[in-house]
Amino acid sequence: MSKLQIVWVYPDLLSTYGDRGNMLILGKRAAARGIPAEMVEVRSDQPLPRQGDIYLLGGGEDGPQALAAERLRADQGLSRAVDRRAVVFAVCAGYQLLGKDFFAKGEKFAGLDLMDISSDRGPSRAVGELAGECDPQLGLPALTGFENHGGRTHVGPGARPLAKVLAGIGNDGSTEGAWSGTMLGTYAHGPALARNPDLADLLLRWATGEEQLAPIDDTWPQKLRAERLAALR
Ligand code: GLN
Repeated sequence: MSKLQIVWVYPDLLSTYGDRGNMLILGKRAAARGIPAEMVEVRSDQPLPRQGDIYLLGGGEDGPQALAAERLRADQGLSRAVDRRAVVFAVCAGYQLLGKDFFAKGEKFAGLDLMDISSDRGPSRAVGELAGECDPQLGLPALTGFENHGGRTHVGPGARPLAKVLAGIGNDGSTEGAWSGTMLGTYAHGPALARNPDLADLLLRWATGEEQLAPIDDTWPQKLRAERLAALR
């Protein structure tokens, strides 16, 4: 199998609450299946690689989020990646900026318009544990994570919510995250892929075209999920 290129997009702007761990988890889980992975960190003053297999965007404060949107639009690498059906996994600020628009520092900004979502501001900041029952089409167990955001996200008909909220706020208190094609966004930090290894494997399957990946002993993240769900319900 050829080498999988995992691109960590703009660690200087988008990388809060351990989101970088998502890249490490994908690299480790790929290696455990004998899939060689190359991890590339691309700062916001650098062009995005055009041949990446998986692009990862993390969370960020309002100012860096608006700057990231501007630089990503100028770079065009992410929209080209989406056109060739590369995998995009985006958390919080990264998730919001995939959509039509988002709010930062009280102002409305244009997003990259890659996913049919639009974000505005909620009445209060959503901070705390988040859990959701995933879209049955994805075949994933319940999602758990940590959220910290002021934005609220509306999912249009061109995308599907990632999960139905069991605890926390997510998009709007009713749904959490969204996905379309091989793009998936979530409000879950944590890092999300350490806490949700099945989601990590879904991204790897999308990227490699493999229908199944060899199982990995996920006893500990499974225990954590069960514990969090029991505490949150
Ligand atoms: N600035 C965005 C908001 O507050 C995203 C925050 C984050 O990524 N944690 O909604």
